[in-house]
Amino acid sequence: MKKLLWAVPLTVVSLVLAGCGTSPSSGSASVRAVGELYPLSWVIGQVGGDRVAVDTLVPAGAEAHGYELSPQQVTTLGRSDLVVYVRTLAAAVDDGVKAAPPKASIDVASLITTRPAVDGAASQATAGGIDPHVWLDPANLVKLADAVAARLGTLDPAGKDTYTANAATLDGRLEKLDSDYRSGLAHCTSRTLVVTHPAFGYLADQYQLKQVGVSGVDEDTEPSPARIVEVEKIAAAERVPTIFSADTSNAKIADVIAGSLNLKTAELSVILGAPSGGDYISAAERNLTTLRDGLGCS
Ligand SMILES: [Zn+2]
Repeated sequence: MKKLLWAVPLTVVSLVLAGCGTSPSSGSASVRAVGELYPLSWVIGQVGGDRVAVDTLVPAGAEAHGYELSPQQVTTLGRSDLVVYVRTLAAAVDDGVKAAPPKASIDVASLITTRPAVDGAASQATAGGIDPHVWLDPANLVKLADAVAARLGTLDPAGKDTYTANAATLDGRLEKLDSDYRSGLAHCTSRTLVVTHPAFGYLADQYQLKQVGVSGVDEDTEPSPARIVEVEKIAAAERVPTIFSADTSNAKIADVIAGSLNLKTAELSVILGAPSGGDYISAAERNLTTLRDGLGCS
């Protein structure tokens, strides 16, 4: 990550950018891009290759919802050529993109058919009411890869063919992942995915699972005792074998529900970072193994 040497107040950033058509160069890269979180930055990096320098706003392990930008990150946003984000995931990023506009931006939610934010959990919908966890369905990232290639080609016409070819390669890897999920989750003893943090709705819709979220989207809000009882009833009625815990959640919640019904627990990654030595694809494959084991898939 490139360290900025100074932090300029927002108004100054906007004025400087308004008066200046080109952004400063970043090493040998032609384009400076920012992804809101790891999977989005990973797509930009795969498509952009050496021609694009990529920063990530939300660090691995951070709470994405309610994430606050540092002044340096607001500066980075305003100086970038391309920002890829999901509207409503983090209000501060939505505001930052408006306050310090990059040359171009892609809201991933605008590329796909969005689903509502809440899955029966006793919680309020996020602003805008859409489920922001778009990156956990590989099919959504295929659409993003193609959109990133098109936008990079406009920002940097000399790299257009490279971007198109890289996106085609990435699409192939994502389509293989999608086919692994499709066949891996085709025959399971349970199709009910009970998970502490309802981040797997797009994945569930894509592969005909039914997500039951224990908490709402806001990870700071612990589920109410009434909600826990409600989930226990669903788990018992639907003969759910495993209570899944998202790696960003407090694992105790899954333990409480599983303990009272004598069920297994397992951890799913919301993929806010790469596993060591791996990438988005290997993290998603690991989730598939966990899902197959937890749902009794053959
Ligand atoms: Zn989330």
